This record gives sequence, structure tokens and C-alpha cells, in this order.
Amino acid sequence: MRFPNLNFPQKSRFLVTGGAGFIGSNICEAIVQMGFEVKCLDDLSTGFIKNIEDFMGNENFSFIEGDIKDYSTCLKATENIDYVLHQAAWGSVPRSIEIPVFYEQNNVMGTLNMLEASSKNKVKKFVYASSSSVYGDIESLPKVEGQEGSLLSPYALTKRVNEEYSKLYSKLYELDTYGLRYFNVFGEKQNPEGPYAAVIPKFTKQLINGETPIIFGDGDQSRDFTYVKNVVEANLKFCLASPSIAGEVFNIAAGGRYTLNEILKIIADMLNMPTLPQYQNARVGDIRHSNADISKAKKYINYSVEWTFEEGLKSYLDWYINSIKVDM
Ligand code: NAD
Repeated sequence: MRFPNLNFPQKSRFLVTGGAGFIGSNICEAIVQMGFEVKCLDDLSTGFIKNIEDFMGNENFSFIEGDIKDYSTCLKATENIDYVLHQAAWGSVPRSIEIPVFYEQNNVMGTLNMLEASSKNKVKKFVYASSSSVYGDIESLPKVEGQEGSLLSPYALTKRVNEEYSKLYSKLYELDTYGLRYFNVFGEKQNPEGPYAAVIPKFTKQLINGETPIIFGDGDQSRDFTYVKNVVEANLKFCLASPSIAGEVFNIAAGGRYTLNEILKIIADMLNMPTLPQYQNARVGDIRHSNADISKAKKYINYSVEWTFEEGLKSYLDWYINSIKVDM
């Protein structure tokens, strides 16, 4: 672990919503390793017990199976909590276009419940997952906080609404909120299954299984792929951020950019496999290029990209191969 020596008061207590999901379980793991108490609240709608089973028996870890759409669950979960790391939400742009009403209920009502419960229980900090999708159709690069375009999906709208509610909670109810706009996170425990899987786990699985990798569009669309441990570190650092920047949003990314064609080739090269993708129609709601200006997070919390893309990818591939015990 390379997490910096963060100065949390002794006996600090954390709540991670969506803690059985990809990013949330990596956050829970880091907090357990730091020796602090952490509660994980998750309804297992897209998360898995297997993501948290390694530390299920740890005395500092507890799991609550519950839904953030239920206010009383949120109120109980936030009792005696210092830091809330709110990750619970449904991801996936295409899925949100199919079922927008469910996204509104889950991502917006769920977050509002968490804000209200955290405010009532006087938590010290509310750090939450926003998304690069809030930049919408703005074409200029890199993406800078404060320069957003028109939104392209219900998912993006739920994240934008969360940002606005969080800003209000900082202004009206003295809850210190910090919005982290993640850019294409990848890493250990990311789910490779299903039609909405992210590209890195999907390509990895397809290559290892000897299937043809599918690319939507021409593959020259680019993303700022960010290794999950950088995201974990940002979450922890924001728990100690100054109240003077409460209510604000921050890009959390690597600050680089790779096309999908490049990504596929890098993964195939690392796995020593041939790259022969099949190209299909581009997906509605997808942005063409994405790359973050990360100077704001650097300035205010000394955010640094501790893990490079290549390092993160190598670690992820090792983990993937171990976890499925592939006979290479
Ligand atoms: P994930 O699906 O692996 O994790 C989300 C977790 O939230 C799951 O365990 C799920 O069961 C849980 N959850 C969903 N609705 C819930 C509810 N109503 N009550 C309780 N738990 C609920 O996804 P992830 O990739 O780990 O994403 C975590 C957060 O980061 C999400 O808010 C997502 O929108 C955001 N985000 C992720 C990325 C990325 O690249 N992975 C990029 C931008 C933003």
C-alpha cells in the first residue's frame, strides 16, 4: 500500500455506501488496512459479497445489506459516523437511457437520503462519487470544473443533480460535501460481466476467453483511464479537506488519454495475445473524448497520480488472472 500517512483522529469511523461494489470495496479495503472502523452499506444490486469477503471477518469491518432509497436505513447507517464515502449508485450511460425513472429514484433520491441522514447525524465530511459524464457534450479538452456542456444521458443528469444537492447541503445545512468527478476508473474487483461492463475488464475477459473483442464506433474515442487506487487515495484525502472548499467538485483522473484501439492493443500485448476486434455501431450518449484537468484537486488536497496507467493495468491483469485461475 502506498497510501500517504493521513492524519485521521484515532477511532475515526467511516461509512462507505456501495461498499460491495468495485470502487467502494477498494475503499473499504484501504480503510481496514489503515486500522479504522468501516461500515459498508450496499443493497447488492450491482455489487457482490465476494468483493468484501476477504475482510468480512475483520473486527473493524461490518456489512449492512440495505437500500439508500430507504431513509431510515440511511439514518441508522450514519449514526456515530465521522466520514461518509458515498459511492452507491447505478452506473452505465446506456442502461440509464433504457430505464431513466429507476436511475432518478436510485441515484437522486438515494443520494438525497444520504445527504439528509448525514446532516441529521452531523457527520464531519460527506465525500461522494460524481462522474466525468457531467461534462456532457462540451468538446474542449481537458475538461475543467466549471466548464460543462449539455448532458447526454439520464445517468449524467442524476450526477449533476447530486452535485447541486450536495452544494446546497453545504450552504444551507453546514454539511461539508466534496464531489469527486471520476474519469473511467479501472482496477481490481471491477465486474467484467454483462452488456454494461466497462471496456478494460470487458477486453481482458474477451481476450483471455479467446473471444473477439467488440468495439462500439471506430475505436478512436479516447478516455482518461484512472487506476482505482488513485481514486481511493483521493477519497481519503478529501475526508481531511478544508471546510473552505466544501460544496465544490473536483476532477479525479490520471490526466492522460488513451483511445479504445490503443487500450485493446496494450492489454493484448501485456497478455501476449493477438488483437482482432470487431467494430459495431457507436452507442448513443457516449462522448467522443475525455481527458481531465486535475490541477484543482492537486491544488486543494495535494492529489497526486501515485499509480500510473501501466502500473495499474499490470496490477489489474495479475489480479484478474489470479482470480479466475486461468491456465496461461
Ligand atoms: P459498482 O456498480 O461496482 O458499485 C456501486 C455499488 O452501489 C454496488 O455495490 C451496488 O450494489 C450499490 N448500490 C447501488 N444502488 C444502491 C442502493 N440503492 N442502495 C445501496 N447500494 C446500492 O460501480 P462502481 O464503478 O464501483 O461505481 C461507484 C460510484 O462511482 C458510482 O456512484 C458511480 O456512478 C461512480 N463512478 C464510477 C466510474 C467508473 O469508472 N467505475 C466513473 C464515474 C463515476
